[in-house]
Amino acid sequence: MEGSQANAAVRGCRITIRGVVQGVGFRPWVYTLAVAYGVAGGVRNDAHGVTIEAFGPPGALDAFVHALGSPPEPARIDHLTCEAIPPKVVRGFAIAPSAAAGDRAVSIPPDLATCGACVAETQDPGNRRHRYAFTNCTHCGPRFTIARDIPYDRQATTMARFAMCSACQREYDDVNDRRFHAQPNACPACGPQLRIVRPDGELIAGDPIEIAAAALRDGKIVAVKGLGGFHLACDATSPTAVRRLRERKRRDEKPLAVMVRDLESAAAVADLDATEAALLTGPEHPIVLARHRVESGLAPDCAPENPLVGVVLPYTPLHHLLMAALQCPLVMTSGNLSEEPIVAGNDEAQARLANLADCFLLHDRPIATRCDDSVVRVIGGAPTVLRRARGYVPRGVGVAAGFEQPVLACGAQLKNTFCIGIGQAAYLGPHIGDLDSVATADAFRRAVRRMQRFLDVVPAVVAHDLHPDYLSTAYARERAGATLVGVQHHHAHVVSAIAEHDLGGPVIGVAFDGTGHGTDGTMWGGEFLVATPASFERVATFRPLALAGGDVAIRQVWRQAAAFLDDAFDGEAPLSRLPLFADLPPVHLRVVRQMIHKGVNAPLAHGVGRYFDAVGALVLRQAAARYEAQVAMACEFAATGEAPPYPYAVDVTTLPWTVDLRPMGRALVDDLLAGQPGGGVAARFHATVVAATMDVVARIGERYGRLPVVLAGGCFQNRRLAEPLLAGLGARGRVYMPRAVPPGDGGLALGQAVVADAVMRAG
Ligand code: ZN
Ligand code: ZN
Ligand code: FE
Repeated sequence: MEGSQANAAVRGCRITIRGVVQGVGFRPWVYTLAVAYGVAGGVRNDAHGVTIEAFGPPGALDAFVHALGSPPEPARIDHLTCEAIPPKVVRGFAIAPSAAAGDRAVSIPPDLATCGACVAETQDPGNRRHRYAFTNCTHCGPRFTIARDIPYDRQATTMARFAMCSACQREYDDVNDRRFHAQPNACPACGPQLRIVRPDGELIAGDPIEIAAAALRDGKIVAVKGLGGFHLACDATSPTAVRRLRERKRRDEKPLAVMVRDLESAAAVADLDATEAALLTGPEHPIVLARHRVESGLAPDCAPENPLVGVVLPYTPLHHLLMAALQCPLVMTSGNLSEEPIVAGNDEAQARLANLADCFLLHDRPIATRCDDSVVRVIGGAPTVLRRARGYVPRGVGVAAGFEQPVLACGAQLKNTFCIGIGQAAYLGPHIGDLDSVATADAFRRAVRRMQRFLDVVPAVVAHDLHPDYLSTAYARERAGATLVGVQHHHAHVVSAIAEHDLGGPVIGVAFDGTGHGTDGTMWGGEFLVATPASFERVATFRPLALAGGDVAIRQVWRQAAAFLDDAFDGEAPLSRLPLFADLPPVHLRVVRQMIHKGVNAPLAHGVGRYFDAVGALVLRQAAARYEAQVAMACEFAATGEAPPYPYAVDVTTLPWTVDLRPMGRALVDDLLAGQPGGGVAARFHATVVAATMDVVARIGERYGRLPVVLAGGCFQNRRLAEPLLAGLGARGRVYMPRAVPPGDGGLALGQAVVADAVMRAG
């Protein structure tokens, strides 16, 4: 028994830690710290994160708590609290097994890219994991995609079916081992296995990696089962292979992501700055959109007429083995047809991808939750997530103001993600895709159910967009007994950034996108709002354009160009002299102009994205978009050089104020008729939108005071629009845009959830 004198010098404290602290080697790290500082007690996973009880002399305890604040990657602390507890006599420091608590509110960790130590083992002929495609440890490997339930323990994952061999079990039980409590721990003797089969399911004998590599070298398309779903792979340097993949996938023009072996190979296909290089090699391993090098060696069809290329490094041992066997960049595109959800099951793959792939590289570790690759672009020097999925989901986005009660936000129709707000975090689900097929609608429902189970919550408050036809809105209405909160689209965009950056409000919210349902029944998307989470005032908007034929005009962008110019020239635009219109059947043009003039089947849209479509069509002489926002993005890529803005007007006598680009339309036509190069015209158009935005924000500041400015909405994926505004507004005050969630509709759910919470609080 210890003497009472020794006890007098000992203090006790209970430390609770929230964040990414499970499944990332956090408890062994705490153990080593405790030993180093001479602290006794124990650490355990709980449903919220990690709880530590620590006992020791005050100095040692303080130093221990301080050291806890900086955990090694990929762990991350969002919240650490420390409360005094009565001192206890404890010998040593123990790691306790996970407790299955009643209220469960922590995330399972995201999937993490294979660490260097694990890669090295797969390359070492003397190691028992040599060439083993499922090597992982506490610092890397699958997590979210194999989890069926929480707490995150092997029995609650798809690894439950594999019994660890004695060697693996020893690693798993040894606190000093890199695989201590690595839930997916496995080796060739006891873990998942690869196989390669023909489309009819017949097994191909031999080493699956070598057979797949040979097929790829041969120009074949191989379906590869990865972490969160299947990819379709082909040799990215082979024009015929890439063209064949496009034809089969019915993906005419959208850029295809390219996997390269290492950072050096990435630098050979794309010009990378330090931020982009760090993103590529970080624990999330997203697809990074970077400038495509002219002499990259990639087949032009990887990213036709696009100066950017999506690059990703291998993030599983399987990828590393494949890339090492191949020695060339691989197209790695989601295994699906166009905008359907990514395929995840072996049988599902063979059914749905049978006509797309020449063979299937499979394994027997089931994927519990589908999760696409994430996409990131550096904008204004900072990483901006454009598609939030693998590596990020289900990590919570911290919301300091917190949620008074759990909220489900159903997201948008396109690029859907949903979100559950609970406590001080928002848990966004993985990117689902466009909710316009039965398959995606189904994937949406399943993903919501799964996230509810992981968080052990069925929110009674459900937020949805105001658009009556969004499937996500219809889903909200199906939720029996829920309190529904309709949230205006652009308000949600702005509040996404308010929440992420803990701004509270009010802010000047600049929300630019293609289309979102307004409170007046028209389509908004060029909005200047003064907003708090609870409410907003629409202070200014862009003059609307008529969409002749409704949604048809969004695809047939020439209709928007005609509407814009007829508006600018009071119906007398010299359309026949412009190359865009010269190739169109005159009768089509006549009918569309009549629809616009008479306002028949020509709803009005305020979206800035609509002006990008119209100007893009004129500059590129392209009548139709081949996929969503293609012409608008091409307009960014076409712009070259620095150029002064065109004239524009701001009418402050209207309510809301109106940004009027008709003067620009007239000047732009003069330039085009004078044979000015399209790149310069596109640059002047960008400069005009930037100047008008700066102007309106300044005027709002004069009236409402100097408020922080938020840029949100899909248009801010455009660097030529976002960067001058970040710089210009940043020079005068504070400016923010969503970074942890997409600025476009993929980040909408976060804002919806926070608005709904604020509305509920306000009663
Ligand atoms: Zn590892
Ligand atoms: Zn084993
Ligand atoms: Fe939007």
